[in-house]
Amino acid sequence: NLSNRLARVADFVPMGARLVDIGSDHAYLPAHLLLNQKITFAIAGEVAQGPLQNAQNEIEKAELTGRLEPRLGDGFAVVEPVDQIDTAVIAGMGGQLIQKILEQGHHDHIQYDNLILQPNTDVSTVRTWLQVHHYALINETMLFDDGHYYEILVAKPGETNFTQQQLTFGPFNLQNKDAVWIAKWQAELDRLQQLLDTLTKADQSDSIAYQNYQKQAQTIQEVI
Ligand code: SAM
Repeated sequence: NLSNRLARVADFVPMGARLVDIGSDHAYLPAHLLLNQKITFAIAGEVAQGPLQNAQNEIEKAELTGRLEPRLGDGFAVVEPVDQIDTAVIAGMGGQLIQKILEQGHHDHIQYDNLILQPNTDVSTVRTWLQVHHYALINETMLFDDGHYYEILVAKPGETNFTQQQLTFGPFNLQNKDAVWIAKWQAELDRLQQLLDTLTKADQSDSIAYQNYQKQAQTIQEVI
């Protein structure tokens, strides 16, 4: 019952990790990893009562009580030092929310050995946060699942010095130029081109909006 998206996230979790899945909802991801013996312990963190109940139900159904702990709390607040968590997953949320959760967790000065993040939006915001907060992006990928493009970022403690272009598009994406990645940015380029055409027809080709869309389109054309 794991989506392609969550299966790809699971692939990046190292063998034997002690995992927190923040915003776990049904806890499908940690349950899958435990049932496949890839990991031995996980926390399913949830800020909301309903999703926490979903996690609880899944844990009982999969007979994972004791190895998968559902905990109610905001972001990293569910993690205690005694848990010895080394890997954090935050998936299926907007990039701004992921950044906020990372930022709040960072106040405890805890660095995780592995961060696996799947922002639905604002991916460059998350890449930038990682660079500023001494996490080195070590891998990334883009996939198409159920009609949507999804990006996954993998980071470890370390320093990087990526350019704005690399933070926007992803340094590994830029190197690999994977077909899925090109298709996503081609679709974005097509969307911008349509907006530009509409503005031209409305005699708005000297507007600020037109200039902005044109600049965005150029930025994409330079990389794909
Ligand atoms: N991670 C799963 C996935 O990728 O399929 C579920 C994603 S679901 C769309 C997002 C979940 O994050 C919701 O269940 C929501 O309650 C939870 N959430 C939102 N903000 C949170 C926070 N600050 N701390 C913990 N969980 C949060």
